[in-house]
Amino acid sequence: MATTVKDPVCDMKVNEETASAKSIYKGRTFYFCSTFCKQMFDREPEKYVQALEDRKQE
Ligand SMILES: [Zn+2]
Repeated sequence: MATTVKDPVCDMKVNEETASAKSIYKGRTFYFCSTFCKQMFDREPEKYVQALEDRKQE
């Protein structure tokens, strides 16, 4: 079973197996719909990770 995860940059659902790009940050793997989103993430990973954490707490 493929796992669907959220692209932290654009909020799109991404399949782990078919994701266009991925990035490892602080031991966690993040998947992206495109290399563009990965580039955005790699530039300011802290910002996107923090946004994800904030959303979880709501
Ligand atoms: Zn994206």
